[in-house]
Formats: sequence, C-alpha cells, structure tokens
Amino acid sequence: MLLDNHNRHINYLRLAVTDRCNLRCNYCMPSEGIDFVKNDKLLAIDELVTLSTILVGQGIDKIRITGGEPFVRKDLMLLLRHLKKLDGLKDISVTTNATLIGPYITELKELGIKDVNVSLDAIDKATFERITRRDQYDTVHENLIRLISEGFNVRINFIVLEGQNEQDIIPILELMKHYPVSVRFLEEMPFNGGSKSFQTIKWDYKTILSHITNAFPKYTKLKSPITSTSINYQIEGHKSTFGLIPSFSRTFCGTCNRLRLTATGDIITCLYGKPKANLRDILRHEGNSDKIKEAILSAINSRAKTGFEAQQEHKSVFSSSMTSIGG
Ligand code: SAM
Repeated sequence: MLLDNHNRHINYLRLAVTDRCNLRCNYCMPSEGIDFVKNDKLLAIDELVTLSTILVGQGIDKIRITGGEPFVRKDLMLLLRHLKKLDGLKDISVTTNATLIGPYITELKELGIKDVNVSLDAIDKATFERITRRDQYDTVHENLIRLISEGFNVRINFIVLEGQNEQDIIPILELMKHYPVSVRFLEEMPFNGGSKSFQTIKWDYKTILSHITNAFPKYTKLKSPITSTSINYQIEGHKSTFGLIPSFSRTFCGTCNRLRLTATGDIITCLYGKPKANLRDILRHEGNSDKIKEAILSAINSRAKTGFEAQQEHKSVFSSSMTSIGG
C-alpha cells in the first residue's frame, strides 16, 4: 500500500499517454499550440507498460488514461490490452475529448473499459468551436450519444469559463436530464500554456451551485466516495446527476489519492506542484526497477499537504498547459 507523508492512501494513477491534442481549447493552450515534445521523449508503449506494472505492484489499483488526447496515439489500444492483464489493477478509465474515440468504442467495451470522461464545454456549436478552435462539434456529439447508448458510464467534464460558456450551464443540464450521465462543472485552472494568468475566478464552485439551484431549486446532495474530487447532486426529476469540482479552490486535498505520470515520464504528486522525478530517464539510463520504485516512494514521501502549498514550488506564474501535465 502506498501512503504519503501525510498518511493519505495513494491508489489512483492518471497516466498521460501523449502531450498532443487535436483540439486547441483556449483555456488549455494558445492557438498555435505549445511546444509539443519530440516523439522520442514520449514514453513508448512498452515503457508505459513497465512503469504501470511497477506502480500497480506498489499499490496503484486504478488507472485513468489521459493526455493530451489519448486517441491521437494510434497504439493506445495496445497499451490498454496490456493494462487489462495486470493483476491488481481493478479499474481502467479514459478521459477524452471524444473526437477520435468512435472506431474504438467496440473494443473498449470488449476490454471491459466502461468509465469514460468526455470533455465538453458547450452544447452550442458556435460556442464549442470558439472554445476548441476546431470544427468537431458534430463528431463529439455523435460519439457522446453512442457512448451513453452503448452503456458506458459517462461523465461530462465542463470547465466553466467566464464570458465564454456560462450561458450553456443550464441548457446542458436540461439536455442531459434524460440520460444516466454525470455532468461535472470544473473551475478553470491557470494551466493554459501561458495564454493568461489569473489569481481569482468568477465561476468558483459555490457560484456555479447557486446559478444551478436558482434554475432548479429542487435538488438533493448525493453521498460521494471520500476520495471524490466532485461534490455531487441530483435535480428532482432528472436521470442525470451533476457535480462540482473545486479544482481552483482546492477543497479536496485532504483526501487526495492521486499520482500523475506525464507522457514524458515526469512523476507529479499535485497538479499545482513541480515534477518530483523523471521515471523515463531512470528507466532508459539505469533500466533498474529498484531505482524506479525508490523514485516513486521518494515522490510520495515528499507530497505537499495541499495544492496551495504545492504552488509554492513554482517561483513565478504557471506557464504549463494541462495537455503536457496530463489532465
Ligand atoms: N484530451 C482529453 C480531454 O479533452 O479530456 C484529456 C486531456 S485534457 C488536458 C483533460 C481535462 O483537462 C479536460 O477535461 C480539459 O477540459 C481539462 N483542462 C484543460 N485545461 C484546463 C484548465 N486550464 N483548467 C481546467 N481544466 C482544464
């Protein structure tokens, strides 16, 4: 079992498989993109399998595949097939923008991968295109409906962006009320590849909640797992539920069970902090699993208590993008 220096049980890995993305969401990166790394800096599939095997051996039992956009990686299914065979790994899930997932839906189902988070920040096509800077709305919509109707456990991630998509908060809840999905509203974080910096946000989780409850006064708070980052609710008469994720307010650090491995092998113990070690370099230069295990344990033993404390590890403002950190 992995316990950090604050006695938190770490069992959940967010595994980024690429830093590339086919969208250019304006809150994630500049329009020209970021400096994507050279291919040889990305972990190869066998390296991803090796590192995952070590981490699962140490106590990780849940892996969420993320990126970048995981499905831009043509060999992604190869990785998933390997992960599926790992003893001790109870849960594999995927976070995607749902533009490229279509051809893989059947195999995902066959592999028993049922938890898919779909990022969707607008239900109005023009708003979607303004935010993502790409013309992919119809594909995303089609894949989303397919995932839902094929029985996947779908959660929609909607980042609330001041002046951009707040007018879609109520309509997306109206649209989704017939479906068994969870619509999660996230606070914007300052990881946008240096496009803009901010110290406060208008749309924090409390403001989002009061906006929703003004429109739907009859709702109940749901019981959530202790490690959940989302505070969950259900509106009377809705099949769907909704959640609020205080990703900027950082109210959930006390029960954080997560570790991140970026597509270039950096191990990150908090989104707001700095990488603690590079497992790709240890693997490539030393090829020694004991050294990798030591680096993982040392990272877990030096975790900041909260995201605010982790933020102190940076000297200046953030310039990184969620696409390279691994969302
Ligand atoms: N491409 C996949 C996707 O779109 O879900 C996975 C990677 S993406 C970086 C993961 C999540 O990070 C998405 O839900 C995205 O909306 C979110 N994200 C990106 N930049 C963010 C920011 N600055 N603040 C909050 N969330 C952000």
